[in-house]
Amino acid sequence: MSTQTVSTQLESYVAGRWFRGTDGGEPVLDAVTGQEVTRVSSHGLDFAALVTHAREVGGPAVRRLTFHERAGLLKELALHLGRHKDDFYALSLRTGATRRDSMVDIDGGIGTMFSYASKGKRELPNDTVVLDGALEPLGKGGTFVGQHLYTSRPGVAVQINAFNFPVWGMLEKLAPAFLAGLPSIVKPGSQTAYVTEAVVRQIIASGILPEGSLQLVCGSAGTLLDELGEQDAVAFTGSAHTAAILREHPAVLHRGVRLGVEADSLNCSILGPDVTAQDDELDLFVKGVVTEMTVKAGQKCTAIRRVIVPEPLADAVVEAISARLARITVGDPADESVRMGALASLGQREEVRKAIEALRTSADIVYGDPAHVDVVGADAERGAFLSPVLLRARPGAAEPHEVEPFGPVATVLTYGSLEEAVDLAARGRGSLVASLVTHDPQVARDVARGLAPWHGRLLILDRDDAAESTGHGSPLPMLVHGGPGRAGGGEELGGVRAVLHHMQRTAIQGSPDMLTSVTGRWTPGARRAVDGVHPFRKSLAELHIGDTIETATRTVTLDDINHFAEFTGDTFYAHTDPEAAAANPFFGGLVAHGYLVVSLAAGLFVDPAPGPVLANFGVDNLRFRTPVKVDDTIRVSLTVKQITPRTTADYGEVRWDATVSNQDDEPVATYDVLTLVAKTAGDTAG
Ligand code: NDP
Repeated sequence: MSTQTVSTQLESYVAGRWFRGTDGGEPVLDAVTGQEVTRVSSHGLDFAALVTHAREVGGPAVRRLTFHERAGLLKELALHLGRHKDDFYALSLRTGATRRDSMVDIDGGIGTMFSYASKGKRELPNDTVVLDGALEPLGKGGTFVGQHLYTSRPGVAVQINAFNFPVWGMLEKLAPAFLAGLPSIVKPGSQTAYVTEAVVRQIIASGILPEGSLQLVCGSAGTLLDELGEQDAVAFTGSAHTAAILREHPAVLHRGVRLGVEADSLNCSILGPDVTAQDDELDLFVKGVVTEMTVKAGQKCTAIRRVIVPEPLADAVVEAISARLARITVGDPADESVRMGALASLGQREEVRKAIEALRTSADIVYGDPAHVDVVGADAERGAFLSPVLLRARPGAAEPHEVEPFGPVATVLTYGSLEEAVDLAARGRGSLVASLVTHDPQVARDVARGLAPWHGRLLILDRDDAAESTGHGSPLPMLVHGGPGRAGGGEELGGVRAVLHHMQRTAIQGSPDMLTSVTGRWTPGARRAVDGVHPFRKSLAELHIGDTIETATRTVTLDDINHFAEFTGDTFYAHTDPEAAAANPFFGGLVAHGYLVVSLAAGLFVDPAPGPVLANFGVDNLRFRTPVKVDDTIRVSLTVKQITPRTTADYGEVRWDATVSNQDDEPVATYDVLTLVAKTAGDTAG
């Protein structure tokens, strides 16, 4: 049993102060012992002040930082929380979670922050806006163009979380919102809010996040939603019932508050018809089902509720799952022999028992007894313990597709054809995740294409990926987490997608000069600045967007082409065989290699002496637009397109627009050159 102490009543963190509800609060009971852990209440909390503080203090402070600076703080915070995780683990025991369960919640949450920190640095610019897609030419003359741009909203992100993941549930929403420039107001599920509160206390005490960028409501959400408006968002995880209430809230209906929902999800796992009783895949399938039934005592939004198997294998599958379930020890999660802890509360256990009763109208229990379980190290009645329960559906059963038992419960359903398997999966009316266990690529293709429209994520598991597979139930920060239909229709994670979800996308139309100014990135057609100093002689501090070198010219001779062909071994006929080249519909004669043109271009624009340019690390968007024929004359315009200082290095990235043109001013090659440039003259290699 944990000895980690919790204050007698949880506090909310509002407008820079800790606030204790004024009515004494509701008791929150230990899931294992039934003893009171703490009390929780938001009575008397000033919700208007909470939202105003986020809008006026937190939001502006976050938005002053670039994406890279925000990412740096997330990393610092993840490191900080990692140093305190033993305290969180100790508290988590009281929610009924085993150490393995807590790993998913605590290390999973911290890992998600690390992942967003790294994605923010690598995939977002060191800026406060993000460009979306390519420039759209809107007029023939090139003076009117369009560019989509994401900006941060001057609003707040309210995050209403379920009881089952008090740490991950908060951090997985906080990280993308923070990167997007939004202050967060976190409202955890009351049953386990003491774990969230402990984490928030650590975050606030660390002083890493700007004041106002994270506030906490322990207890009821009260009038919080009444305070929200057009620039605000609510991300909700919990029951479909509460989701329906939130969807009808006037703030959502009439004031444009964006509501993201992740609710009940009747996830399934399908065993492919190719799998035989001797195949590794059968074992993988069975293990997957048992893991998902028992981790967090099945209180996972991604847990497998429907086990869909080919009719001929149904008996073998039921037998194998039951045999594994029989080895699951239930009891005090602090006891190392225990594999499955308690449900979050006695109330939750009653809900799950009711759900099992509902399922029994069309399914029979084949393993477990909802009324009885042998418990190790704890009192079976005071703690919210429940046996894992496996049911087998009768033909045509409806309930398994409608009732979500939020506990260690799953139902086996059988199918005849693959179409039927897909149809059964779709009867869940939209789920977070499905898994398909098959070693047959054709089955994978047919089933995956049928399942995809109904799911946010799909795991295809077989002997080849099993060792590295992260499993059915683990949402990953880089992949979409959320599902269509009944699962709520949201997408909480998915790498940078989740950041952009929080931002506003706007189509900006104007001249190239105006777009250059608005976006901070040189736009083709905008003014180029030629000041007589080669831009390769300028440090990052001296370079400006638009700085350009217009090079001398060079004629590409037949000797050049022959030499390049011999030297590189690229003797493709269009460069070496005049007759065959003449017959080519695109060239009509010998042409220079594209890579020769790009190499000659570098010879034209490079300033060779040591200086601030440290390295060339690639090119983007290379296109060969017009063939370069023998004796064509080329020249290059190289223009600073984007400057990205690296926050933790004495150099930054410079993206150059390179346009190689021929003697008729036609572009023959266009691309972006990517270089690393010293921040100041003192950091140069010269
Ligand atoms: P709830 O929907 O009751 O609660 C989720 C969150 O919403 C909690 O923070 C809760 O606060 C808050 N809340 C409740 N009512 C309101 C309201 N009117 N306005 C604003 N916020 C509100 O779900 P639970 O977490 O209690 O779980 C109940 C059931 O939901 C589970 O048994 C399960 O079936 C399902 N569920 C499904 C999940 C999924 O993703 N598939 C995840 C979690 C739950 P408070 O705790 O203070 O009431």
